[in-house]
Amino acid sequence: MERKFRETHVNGIPTVIQEVGKFELGPLFGNAHVIKSKHGQIGKIKIREGLPPSIRRFIEEHEKYHIKDWESKSSWIMSEMKANMAAGLKEPVGFLHTTYLTISDSRRRNYYLKKLFNR
Ligand SMILES: [Zn+2]
Repeated sequence: MERKFRETHVNGIPTVIQEVGKFELGPLFGNAHVIKSKHGQIGKIKIREGLPPSIRRFIEEHEKYHIKDWESKSSWIMSEMKANMAAGLKEPVGFLHTTYLTISDSRRRNYYLKKLFNR
């Protein structure tokens, strides 16, 4: 049986990477959160299952960057740009592939246009 959870460390933060079903994240391919507990910080990354390998690797790097960058006070657009830059340098094919899927998929395109222009 396929493992749905993987544990890693991102900048010393114990982080769980979970594969989730196609519909759980809506149009997103992944998301990341840092949860603070009395035991310290825990990172949680969710990645849509079934993505092509280059995209999968790009999304994982992108979400790990959000964990590293969690304490920064960057705006949404700045943190996305930084995460895309960091992940795109490591996974350029995945970056291009993800960008292509985002502009060619109206659901994803509209999600990001809405966030960008706040309407
Ligand atoms: Zn992001």
